Amino acid sequence: MKITSIFEQNKRTILSFEVFPPKKTSPIESVFSKLEEICALKPDFVSVTYGAGGTLGHSRTCEIASKIKNELGVESVAHLTCVNSTREMIDETLSDFRAHNIENILALRGDRVEGVEPQTDFLYASDLCAYIKSKGGFHISGACYPEGHIDAENEIADVLNLKKKIDSGADHLISQLFFDNAVFYRFLERAQIAGIHVPVEAGIMPVTNKNQIERMVSLCGASLPPKFVKIMQKYESKPEALRDAGIAYAVEQIVELISNGVDGIHLYTMNNPYVAAKITAAVRNLL
Ligand code: FAD
Repeated sequence: MKITSIFEQNKRTILSFEVFPPKKTSPIESVFSKLEEICALKPDFVSVTYGAGGTLGHSRTCEIASKIKNELGVESVAHLTCVNSTREMIDETLSDFRAHNIENILALRGDRVEGVEPQTDFLYASDLCAYIKSKGGFHISGACYPEGHIDAENEIADVLNLKKKIDSGADHLISQLFFDNAVFYRFLERAQIAGIHVPVEAGIMPVTNKNQIERMVSLCGASLPPKFVKIMQKYESKPEALRDAGIAYAVEQIVELISNGVDGIHLYTMNNPYVAAKITAAVRNLL
């Protein structure tokens, strides 16, 4: 089923999850039991990330997205980046997705990989959206950044570029993680003013260990509200307390977002069924 139909049929806040394939050095089966537990929670869909490497990076994404949809009975979205791909490589990936009955793609530019010269067929995610759209048959999602993308001149320039992504065929947006809901509401206002009217899901990452916070902040530049920093500092040397505090913080964010009628919550599960289950149990009856 296409994600657009999930939004049309449900008329409520959608709950989706994100998972990632295992590293190439681990067998693909190493994530299967976690995927089974995650899918047993019956999210509206599960998206599967795409390795930053480029060449044939799609194969594991495709295999996992196919397993989720065709074996575990949950709709899936395959991420696809274009920074390191030629048009021929994208064609090959799209035919693989089609062959596995995958109908939904999160079209991304991706980040440059050190030492790899980027390809030039697609400069931005909007170029990839337009190309996939021209081929037909797929629902297209795109990424958005409540605090502005890290390369963008400013938040306004970023939202105007986002509008180009919608005009190029993106039917739905999933946001970068954020820890302050007010930042997300301000972004929604900017998007509305820019003429963006597709469903926008709020990206929520339950922070469950200290390294994760440091890595995330350096990668995506998400700002940390003082309330969040205080909690993390208090429990940084107590792993179980930090995990529980991270879950509680995420639940509080989600409850407030749902009561404000957001279109969807996209939970970055980090392949952790325990955390996904705790959060789902806490918010299920609100949806
Ligand atoms: P774009 O939308 O192309 O934007 C990139 C930058 O270019 C922005 O600053 C934007 O303002 C600017 N821009 C866009 N269009 C134009 C234009 N026409 N003219 C001038 N400037 C323009 N990375 C992975 O490698 N694999 C994944 O699976 C993955 N999944 C993700 C999922 C989500 C929900 C999110 C939010 C991010 C994900 N990323 C993933 C990270 C993403 O690849 C990076 O953030 C990347 O730097 C930008 O990708 P994009 O698709 O948002 O790029």
